Amino acid sequence: MTKKSTKISVVGGGIMGIMSAYMLQRQYPDANIILYDENGFPNDNASFIAGGMISPYSELDHMPENYLGAGLSSVKIWQEISNSYNNCFEFTNNGSLIIAHNSDHYILERFRSILPNNDDQWQSIGRQAITRLEPQLNISKFCKGLHIKGEAHLNPKKAMPALLNNIKNKKVKHIDIKEEKHMSDWIIDCRGMGAKSDIANLRGVKGETLIVYNPEFNLTHLLRLMHPRYPLYIVPRDNNIFLIGATIIETEENSNTSLRSSMELMSALYSIHPSFSDAQIIETRAGIRPSYPDNMPQIHVSKNMIICNGLFRHGFLFSPIMANCVVSIITRQPYEFNHLFIKDNKENANNLKRKCA
Ligand SMILES: Cc1cc2nc3c(=O)[nH]c(=O)nc-3n(C[C@H](O)[C@H](O)[C@H](O)COP(=O)(O)OP(=O)(O)OC[C@H]3O[C@@H](n4cnc5c(N)ncnc54)[C@H](O)[C@@H]3O)c2cc1C
Repeated sequence: MTKKSTKISVVGGGIMGIMSAYMLQRQYPDANIILYDENGFPNDNASFIAGGMISPYSELDHMPENYLGAGLSSVKIWQEISNSYNNCFEFTNNGSLIIAHNSDHYILERFRSILPNNDDQWQSIGRQAITRLEPQLNISKFCKGLHIKGEAHLNPKKAMPALLNNIKNKKVKHIDIKEEKHMSDWIIDCRGMGAKSDIANLRGVKGETLIVYNPEFNLTHLLRLMHPRYPLYIVPRDNNIFLIGATIIETEENSNTSLRSSMELMSALYSIHPSFSDAQIIETRAGIRPSYPDNMPQIHVSKNMIICNGLFRHGFLFSPIMANCVVSIITRQPYEFNHLFIKDNKENANNLKRKCA
């Protein structure tokens, strides 16, 4: 397997493909690993515009609790990678603050009820702790919250180019998967929505974001506002830049952010702090999240093909773990999270229109 002639083709330069190429290259420095993307490196794919949150507890509204361990392991992997890159992609793991307006306290209570009991990684907090964590928040509007330690975020627009720089072989090329599988020892299919015509039950879920500059506001934690209509998160970037996201809309139409979504995000943002009324809008973006019916990612293996898709809201959260699953499949070594991601039952296999054999 470590022969120089071993060819591994990774198709798709989103975070799943980049992370697979990165982990494989680390495992097999001598192999011929090539990362392909038809739109270049990096390109404006779903990964590039993402928030970059690695926040497993906060995502328990969108995933089963048994994925929590994988998410926490991912935070550690990202930490190691960030250290090895001299922290050049704004990786921070100082946790999340979750708040709701006082009148919406029941949403916070509902969310608290799904967090694991007897877990010291999160705690309910009141005014004093909110002020200590984020002094600019108005505690007469937000008097209760949840502090989740250890959750992380990074800037995909810095992380992806940094990782790509270290991937030795990259080619800008459209790959026909059926042809490529005859030309490679292994083919890792990370095409995201590009695989839609081959995977019957893959659908797209639109997400929209807003990026603003607000020199009047500082935030050190990832902030989530629980709201009955417009839940949002604010990811702080360097230099008073904030990414605000994200809508979850059942459509694959990916033109741009709609007026309605922009207004919703902006009004919820303004309700967090009045200084956002004067914030400068830097950009609005829309992307399509590749998703399976249960919104959980899956890996399918068929002969020399490994298909990684359906990362939904969790590209940064789960790609390091799924890339380790890919390595474990090729090395035939066990990995503790394989059972969560590798789907080999008949029902799932039948959903793959393309027969890889
Ligand atoms: C607004 C928004 C915010 C998000 N925020 C977060 C977040 O904070 N945290 C988190 O974990 N996740 C987040 N996500 C989810 C995450 O972005 C996705 O899960 C992730 O991007 C999916 O990655 P991917 O590599 O599978 O697909 P993509 O990023 O879509 O990449 C697929 C790539 O494959 C290429 N390709 C397709 N077909 C071919 C072909 N035949 N030949 C060559 N190349 C091909 C495409 O050009 C593309 O570059 C967010 C998503 C959105 C939309």
